[in-house]
Order: sequence, then structure tokens, then C-alpha cells
Amino acid sequence: MIQIQDIISVVEQFAPPALQESYDNSGVQCGNTQMPASGVLLSLDITHEVLKEAIKKKCNLIIAHHPLIFSPLKQLTGKNYVEQLIIKAIKNDIVLYACHTNADNIQAGVNKKIAEKIGLLNTRILQPKKRILKKLVTFCPEKQAASVQNALFDAGCGHIGNYDRCSFSTNGNGTFRANEHAQPFVGEKHKQHTETEIKIETIFESYKEHQVVQTLLQAHPYEEAAYDIYTLDNTHPQIGSGMVGELAQPMSEKDFLQHLKQSFGARGIRYTRFLNQEVKKVALCGGSGSFLLKEAIKAGAHMFVSADFKYHQFFDADNHIVIADIGHYETEHFTPEIFYSQIVKKFSTFAVHLSDHNTNPVNYF
Ligand SMILES: [Zn+2]
Repeated sequence: MIQIQDIISVVEQFAPPALQESYDNSGVQCGNTQMPASGVLLSLDITHEVLKEAIKKKCNLIIAHHPLIFSPLKQLTGKNYVEQLIIKAIKNDIVLYACHTNADNIQAGVNKKIAEKIGLLNTRILQPKKRILKKLVTFCPEKQAASVQNALFDAGCGHIGNYDRCSFSTNGNGTFRANEHAQPFVGEKHKQHTETEIKIETIFESYKEHQVVQTLLQAHPYEEAAYDIYTLDNTHPQIGSGMVGELAQPMSEKDFLQHLKQSFGARGIRYTRFLNQEVKKVALCGGSGSFLLKEAIKAGAHMFVSADFKYHQFFDADNHIVIADIGHYETEHFTPEIFYSQIVKKFSTFAVHLSDHNTNPVNYF
């Protein structure tokens, strides 16, 4: 029997909740995840129609991109749609779950999906995040060094870009003296001992720290394993905001906007002055991406595809780039497909549905 938590774990393995922005509220919105899962409904937003659809399709889990609860609730009386939906979900034993900015910040997330729909090649994260990486340094007797190193790799250490199991080792001498309470692995009590040790250095994503340290303590032969953890200033090239890539064939600015209209079902694109150049390099960000305009210009993109630009922000294109605001819903409505492919990869026979509803609150006249 598949538990609701098992489905959520698949999503969290793919988009770790620790990678969400500080203002976000990704994760369980309401409900008990320790129940057998009857089906999962995937949607961009949670609305009355989506909840009704879940009940009809016998899904007791809704996974949405946008969290239903954003500001903390002080009462639950049903005075607005958020409270009404929470109450109705709880009454119907339906778990509401959101995977929001953590899905934005991962390499294979929301922005990769948009890049695929545009047809971009050679994509990379537009604004990689800093201080996600930590370094672990540990000191281990020569004979056990390889097994400790392998255990650390298996726990998720040593990923750099397209490489894994990365580390660096040096030889040296460790010294220690065990007291009467100790059970030393090597050496004698009350005597200073010198042991030939290997210093192992490797990196890991900071949200894996607990797992990494537990693994080290289990795998290391010493009673007291010596280790250091450093926070690194490096950026993490696979984690961050927005994306930039290249079209296989350059297009005119007008043709590119037409291409966006078709690919994303955009009813109206708000855009800045054409620069009369071919579009080859394209930057993008799902949802509200105006904060990345400078990065898009810096990356040398001809076009920046995003949403939620305000009037004055359009001026900032300043003949450096063309902003194409195609609408928030339009940029992100393929996001449930990402969750779909992750879940069916793990649970191929489980009932996974993409919502039939267009939840866009914006209409075009
Ligand atoms: Zn959004």
C-alpha cells in the first residue's frame, strides 16, 4: 500500500524543501500524510474546482506548485477561499501539498520545463545560488579510508556538475591519547599514539548535513571521529533562479513572440521595443521574474521571457534586451507535468492525474 508520504517523498527527493526561498511556504498545507494514497491530482493552483475534481477522481492528495497558505492563518472560519478550501480538504481527508520555489530553484524544475517548451539548448541556471555547498574534511586510518569515502559518496557527498564521487585525499599523521573510559580502535590507553591517516575532503549540499554526519559517524572506525565542516562561498551551478539557453535556429523577434504565443497558449504578450536583431540567446524565469532582468542582460540574452512585470520595470529593458511578459499562469502551467513524470517513474501503476482545470485567475478581453 502506497502512503501519501511515499508520494510526497518522491517529490521531495526531486525538489528538496530546503531549497525553497525564505518567504515561501512549500510543503504540506494540511492533512495527515500517514494515510494510504488513493490517487494524486496535480495542478498549478488549488481552487474550488480543483478540489472538487480531486473528490470526484478519488484523489486524497493534491500537489500544487503554488502554496494555498502563504500568510499564517490565525483562525479557520471559512471567511475567504483559502480557509474554505482548507476546511473542505480536511473534511474530505485530502492532503494539500505545495512544491513551489524549491521546484523553481532546481536544475530540472520549472525553468527547465519552460526552456524545453521554447526549445532551448545549452541551458544553464541564470543566477546560481551561493552558500548551498559545504565542505567536509575528515581524518581516517589508511585501511578504512576507502570504505569511509564510499559511504560518504553514497550519502550524497561529492557531486560537482556532471561528476559525482569527487574528493581529494592527502596522507598525514594523526595523534591522540585515550583516557581510562575510552575504547580506542588503535593505540593504548594513557599513551600518546601516532597513526598514519588519510585526510579526505569532499563537498555536499548543506541540506544533506545531518545525513552526511550520521553516515560519517557510522562508517568511521574511531570512537571519536574527527571532522570539520566549512560553509563555502562557491555558487552552486545547478541550484538557483531563472535559466538561459540558446535557440537551435535564430528567429526574428516577431516570429519568436509568435512562437511563445503558440507554445504557451499566451493570449496577450506585453513586450518592450524590438531591437531589430535576431533572437538566439533567451533568458527566462517562470512566474514573477523581474528581479532577474539585470542577470538576463548580463548573460547577453536577446529576449527575457517571464511574467508580472510592472509598468516602470519595462523601462529597465533600456534597449539592452526585449522583455516578453507572457503571463504568470502561461509561464508555469506545464509545471504539474514535472511532478507527473517524477511520480510515475517511481510508481508506474499508481493513479496520477493532471488537473483538467485552467486555474488562471486572469482573463483577457
Ligand atoms: Zn508562480
